[in-house]
Amino acid sequence: MKKEHVVIYPGTFDPITIGHLNIIKRALRIFDKVIIAVAEDTTKDTLFTVEERVQMIKESLKGYKNVEVDTFKGLLMEYAKKKGVHTILRGLRTVQDFEYELQMALANKKLNPNCETIFMMTEGAYSYFSSSLIKEIAHLKGNIKDMVPPPVEKMIKKKFFNKEV
Ligand code: ADP
Repeated sequence: MKKEHVVIYPGTFDPITIGHLNIIKRALRIFDKVIIAVAEDTTKDTLFTVEERVQMIKESLKGYKNVEVDTFKGLLMEYAKKKGVHTILRGLRTVQDFEYELQMALANKKLNPNCETIFMMTEGAYSYFSSSLIKEIAHLKGNIKDMVPPPVEKMIKKKFFNKEV
């Protein structure tokens, strides 16, 4: 039987953006399966609970095959071992991303030498999309329609303004 190539795409996803979706869609052309692993322990102050972040990802990826949405606590390398997966996917946008990602990739390699981190470059139009920027724009009542999938736009508006769209 052919070996399945599975990749874990970990992140905070607070919330998932079109930039994240772009990485997931492109990864599905390379890998047989993408596991989106939502971090429960994060130093970031999240707007959404882990359950809400998972729900938004699931709704945004409705109809997609070969994706699994999961959560993890603690070390990513322990989670990868538990899942029996040896590849981690991260996206790169800026030089700042690179500095942080290099440090994380090296630390993870030390913790689990059998696991490789691979990187995918953002695509031009999405390069400035980040969850935090999008939250800021939404909070200031700006239009985020082209930056997040429709279920996320709905949830953000509900969260900030208690308003259905
Ligand atoms: P984390 O808190 O782990 O950085 P994020 O949800 O912010 O989680 O991001 C998850 C991954 O997606 C990171 O590798 C990040 O660089 C990448 N990413 C986020 N936005 C984009 C984008 N617009 N284009 C490409 N990669 C992105």
